[in-house]
Amino acid sequence: MQLTLWTYEGPPHIGAMRIATSLQNVHYVLHSPQGDTYADLLFTMIERREARPPVTYTTFQARDLGADTAALFKNSVRDAYARFKPDLMVVGASCTAELIQDDPGGLAHALALPIPVVPLELPAYQKKENWGASESFYQIVRACARPAAAARPARPPASTEGRRPLCNILGPTALGFRYRDDLREIKALLGRLGIAIGVVAPLGAAPADLARLGEADFNVVLYPEIAHLTAQWLQRQFGQPATTTVPIGVGATRRFIAEVAALSGLAPDAPSVTAALAGSTLRLPWYSRSVDSTYLTDKRVFIFGDATHALAAARIACDELGLAVVGIGTYSREFARDFRAAAETYGVKPLITDDYLEVEREIAAAEPALVLGTQMERHIAKRLGIPCAVISAPIHVQDFPAHHAPYMGFEGANAIFDAWIQPLMMGLEEHLLTMFREDFEFHTAAPPSHLGRYVPQASPPAANTDPTRWVDEALRELAKIPFFVRGKARRNTEKFAAERGISPITLETLYDAKAHFSH
Ligand code: SF4
Repeated sequence: MQLTLWTYEGPPHIGAMRIATSLQNVHYVLHSPQGDTYADLLFTMIERREARPPVTYTTFQARDLGADTAALFKNSVRDAYARFKPDLMVVGASCTAELIQDDPGGLAHALALPIPVVPLELPAYQKKENWGASESFYQIVRACARPAAAARPARPPASTEGRRPLCNILGPTALGFRYRDDLREIKALLGRLGIAIGVVAPLGAAPADLARLGEADFNVVLYPEIAHLTAQWLQRQFGQPATTTVPIGVGATRRFIAEVAALSGLAPDAPSVTAALAGSTLRLPWYSRSVDSTYLTDKRVFIFGDATHALAAARIACDELGLAVVGIGTYSREFARDFRAAAETYGVKPLITDDYLEVEREIAAAEPALVLGTQMERHIAKRLGIPCAVISAPIHVQDFPAHHAPYMGFEGANAIFDAWIQPLMMGLEEHLLTMFREDFEFHTAAPPSHLGRYVPQASPPAANTDPTRWVDEALRELAKIPFFVRGKARRNTEKFAAERGISPITLETLYDAKAHFSH
């Protein structure tokens, strides 16, 4: 753990809160200091949920540390049960409470409540939020579904029983990126394939629903960070296979349909499969064939986020939009191996870090035309004057839009097209600004139109800060170059001049360097 201004993931108990908040009739008692109630705001303010999370904080203070904090915890559990009457209770400690070693699991067990109590041991100093969510989901599912596992005989395939195939959907979780819209999209897609949906979890599932997880033929894993561990356990317990394709992007959605069809026992050429693969609502291929799209070909894109979204974004950028991936990274250390493999495919160095300052340095060095990232990269890109679209948690309030905006399925591909292309087309407007640069509204010192009064650092304005190196006339010419390539043009020219001992840089040097680098 480190002190920082920004963090990609909170401590693991925030992950546990995301699971408890997603489930129904579950209450979480968190042994924690007074300040920890800040976590409520993540759900009520950022996600705009109508109710605060089902969490009771013990909120011990400094003066309590000399007294009996264990008694404080037991009273909180007893009071929470009496007040909320949950079907299942989760207990655990936050980072600071972990240090006082009160053993929340043992203390709650001693109360002999008439409901299952799941103790969560989340090592706050080694693990983070997504790991905490994954582990909490797994522990709660184990507690609810294990009794059924022993009693239930193996179920014959749907085709031999003459029934519709049945699947569970695993992974949608509070505070996730576009999870509600993704779920609606995937439910509709499975419906068109004729596949019935048993349990969606954790979102909206009660403990009684989790007990039914073993009834399905297979599991659809939408977010591996959250649900992979649980899906592996369900496979061991009930022999349920799970999907491995995350349906983000046109190609991945088609592979997902094929994978789901195979798991359901549907023939690849069954009418429902063929109709689903056709993707009648899909508009992205239309764009890819249009004249406009050539403007974007090989535009440099830098991608950073959680594993699921960043890997999918790189695939779409490269295979479906013709962009050039110049950087790819994640804060999800558990998926570092997948990232190394992906980075090799794109011929770039993988960036696996949770240090946003390192991410900022890498973005500045890569000089992309577009950044696809989290809320952090949105800030970084704004500072550097580079267009940006958000593709992954952590996210802010504007990333929970009121309208339907999935990232998964064919409608998700349409939404991605809109969200990514628009910032780049705003860049295209800069060409017009350049053409009309003598107009009073579009003078050369004007910042990019979509960045308001902000003056980007990556594309220095036309001020001659070092007169020994650039003559004014050359700087004025440099300022005519569109902002998203101006920084690169400047560096190339300075490199060209330095290698030849040229100083100051004149208009002629600028043109010579341009000719040199275009060969
Ligand atoms: S216990 Fe952990 S999450 Fe809570 S205030 Fe302290 S450091 Fe932050």
